[in-house]
Amino acid sequence: MTLVVQKYGGTSVGTAARIRRVSRRIADTAASGCQVVAVVSAMGHTTDRLIELAHRVSDEPPGRELDMLVANGETITAPLVAMCLQGMGVPAISLTGQQAGIRTGPQHSKARIREIDPVRIRQALDRGQVAVVAGFQGVTEELEITTLGRGGSDTTAVALAAALDAAECEIYTDVDGILTADPRVVPEARLLRFIAYEEILELAAVGAKVMHPRAVEIGELYGVRIHVRSSFHQRPGTMIVAELPMEERNRVRGVAHESNVAKITVMGVPDRPGVAAAIFEPLAEAGISVDVIVQNVSTDGITDLTFTCADSDLRHASKVIEKVAREIGAREVVHAGGVAKVSIVGTGMLGTPGIAARMFRTLAAAKVNIEMISTAEIRITCLVARKDAEKAVRALHSAFQLDQVA
Ligand code: ASP
Ligand code: MG
Repeated sequence: MTLVVQKYGGTSVGTAARIRRVSRRIADTAASGCQVVAVVSAMGHTTDRLIELAHRVSDEPPGRELDMLVANGETITAPLVAMCLQGMGVPAISLTGQQAGIRTGPQHSKARIREIDPVRIRQALDRGQVAVVAGFQGVTEELEITTLGRGGSDTTAVALAAALDAAECEIYTDVDGILTADPRVVPEARLLRFIAYEEILELAAVGAKVMHPRAVEIGELYGVRIHVRSSFHQRPGTMIVAELPMEERNRVRGVAHESNVAKITVMGVPDRPGVAAAIFEPLAEAGISVDVIVQNVSTDGITDLTFTCADSDLRHASKVIEKVAREIGAREVVHAGGVAKVSIVGTGMLGTPGIAARMFRTLAAAKVNIEMISTAEIRITCLVARKDAEKAVRALHSAFQLDQVA
């Protein structure tokens, strides 16, 4: 029997009516003779609301309690879907992350899946039930509840697909699939029929909100067929593949932006071996991921080092960095919110000269100042003022003719 994993995002299960519609789709899949594992997100903006609530009662909510709180969003959706299915005459059972056998490491709010022991899911499937699993959550060896990071239900779904050796993992969302840009910013954005794992990884890493990057990594590692598609209609979306079909190898495949970025500069850093490590190790230990890193050429043995992190990590990161700066004898630490990252991505960029130049020329023509630049094999990222981000995305989308993707 074919086993499929389907994941339904927050918007798709945002109301009772939508839960009924999602359940209908699950029921249809089951009726077509498939075994179905449905992974569900929290309804609508539940997670945001719970986090906001936490911050209203606590300045810095402890990670453990925050996870205990926000995991509930998904724990609410799963039984609602299961009872709806049962009402339609489809045998179903809801499972928490723990019951689904999702074991994670101990890092709260960003926990990584260590292993999956899906005995209860298999049991349910063997009994002819749909297993409705609460996404985003897991449990540590000590039975502490953890969550996998924002958007983590994707990771739950793909990891389950890998563990269960599913034929396909369908990621149902509120957009048609992976688009060339965020359609709220670029109305001309086009649907990509295929995208390479590495492209979507780069896009996701620089702010495209379609899929959780860790989900894609797991998919690539275990060769999971991932189909990102809309839960609002039946049309196919985007298949994530290892190799793009020949005709799809456009040079630039997508433009992404991320607005909640902060910038930290450590000024007057003594330029000697080990200082970069001394700065970034404590950040890593604190679980803060840093991104665009630029170290200036040093003059008189002194240099400046700038990096970006998520806005939400700024307070924590500044605290860590100020301590380090004192230890290594740096002059001062300055930080700024209000910046954004704008990136272009595409495997075809490899070995195609002139792409970077075209990007910079396009931004100049749009009167957007570039504050920092970072490049990777198949990506170029510019840091710009947040107010310019959307204008920059639109200019790049048209300069690289992404509105003409077939
Ligand atoms: N509910 C979680 C979030 O909003 C996880 C998810 O939706 O994938 O981030
Ligand atoms: Mg989501």
